[in-house]
Amino acid sequence: MTDGARPFAAAAGEAPVPAAVDVIRAKRDGVPLPARDIRWVIGAYLRGEIAEEQMSALLMAIYFRGMDAAELRAWTGAMLDSGERLDLGPVGLPTVDKHSTGGVGDKVSLILAPLVAACGAAVPQLSGRGLGHTGGTLDKLESIPGWRAALSNDEMLGVLRRAGCVICAAGAGLAPADRRLYALRDVTGTVESIPLIASSIMSKKIAEGTGALVLDVKVGSGAFMRDVADARLLAQTMVALGTEYGVRTTALLTRMDTPLGQAVGNAVEVEESVATLAGHGPPDLVEVVLTLATQMLRLAGVDADPRAALADGRALARYRDMIAAQDGDPDAPLPVAPHTRSVPAPASGWLARLDARAVGNAAWRLGAGRARKEDPVSAAAGVLCLAKPGDWVEQGQPLLELRADDETRFGAALAALGDAIAVGAERPAVPGPVIDQVGG
Ligand code: URA
Repeated sequence: MTDGARPFAAAAGEAPVPAAVDVIRAKRDGVPLPARDIRWVIGAYLRGEIAEEQMSALLMAIYFRGMDAAELRAWTGAMLDSGERLDLGPVGLPTVDKHSTGGVGDKVSLILAPLVAACGAAVPQLSGRGLGHTGGTLDKLESIPGWRAALSNDEMLGVLRRAGCVICAAGAGLAPADRRLYALRDVTGTVESIPLIASSIMSKKIAEGTGALVLDVKVGSGAFMRDVADARLLAQTMVALGTEYGVRTTALLTRMDTPLGQAVGNAVEVEESVATLAGHGPPDLVEVVLTLATQMLRLAGVDADPRAALADGRALARYRDMIAAQDGDPDAPLPVAPHTRSVPAPASGWLARLDARAVGNAAWRLGAGRARKEDPVSAAAGVLCLAKPGDWVEQGQPLLELRADDETRFGAALAALGDAIAVGAERPAVPGPVIDQVGG
C-alpha cells in the first residue's frame, strides 16, 4: 500500500489504524508515536504494504526528532518480534555476550569469547562483516582456512556446547526487520541516529537469547561516535533497552583514536589475537580484553580470574576448539600478502598521533575492507603499526608496514594516511583505553 490509505479497519472499540502518511506526519511534527502505530508500521513495511519511500521518510523524521523511551521500547520490540528468539537454555551455563560498536584493529571478540568461555560462562557471539574503515569479526575469522561463519541454529548450539563459545553470522531469522531497515538507513543517510542504532543493535542481541551483555562503545576518530557525550548517550540508551528486555547489560566507553593493538586487517588480526591468547598481546589490547572479560564474568555471576586463563593457555585451547568446531584449521598457515611497503617516521621524536580512521581507511584501500556489503575482502591485506603514540621513534624508522595482494593499491593507501602520523618533541600523555562505564 503506497498511497497512504488505511490498510485495514480497526476492531470495534479500538482507535483506528493510521495511514502510513499520518505516522510520518506525526513524527515529522514531533508527536510521539503510540506503540500500536509503531508495531503496525514495522509489520506493514515487512509485508510490503508500506513503500520504501514512506519508510525512508519516517526514518528521516526519526533521525531529526528522535524517539522517547516508550517509542524506543516499542520500536525495538517490533523488530524483535519480526523474527525468532533463540533459546540458549539447553547450553546449561550462564550466557554472556559482548558487542562492540566497531573500531580499527578491534579484534577483541576473537580473544574475549574463548577467554570468557575458559572461565566458565558460555559466549554466543553473533557478529557482522566490516563496512568502510572498520573491520568485521567474520571477515577476520574467514582468513582461517575452512572456517565457516554460516551456522544453523542447531550447529550454533552444538559449537557453544563443545567449545563454550561461538562466533558466527546472525541467521536470517533474527530480527529480520532490522536487516531491511538497516539496508534502507544505509542508503538514506539515517544510520547515525542514536535511537535507530540502539534499537538495531539491541534487537539482535536480545533475539540471540543471551542472559547478559557487555557493550564496548568506542569513542574517537576511528569510531562511529567521535565524542564522549554521544557515546555516553548511545550507551545509556542501549543499557536501558537491554535492562527493560531482561538482559543484564552494562557498557564501557573505550578509546578509538589510535588502532587497537598493532594489526589492522584480517589474517594479521587473527595472528595478533592468537599471539595475545598465547600471552604475548600488546598492552592496550590486553587491557581492553581483561576489562571486558571481568565485566562479562561479573554479569554472568562467574567468579574466575580472566588474567590467569589468558596466562595459562586455557583461553587459547578454547579458541582452538571453537575454530575446529566451525571447520577451521587452527594450525593452517594464514594467507600472507606478497607485497609490503613501509612508512617511515618523518622525524625523530615522540610519536604523538597515529590516527585510527586514517589507518583504517588505508587498510580498506589495501583491500582489507569493503565499500559495499557484497564486495569481497582480501584476507592478507592490512597494516601493521610498528610504533604507537607515546613511543620514541628515529627519523626513517618504519612506523607502518602496509601489506597488499597487488602493488597498485599502495598509492591509494598512502594517500588515505594523509596526516595520520605526527611526531613531536614533547612526550605525549597516553591515556588508558577505558574511559568510563555506563550501567551497573
Ligand atoms: N550496527 C548495527 O547493528 N546497527 C546500527 O544501526 C549501527 C551499527
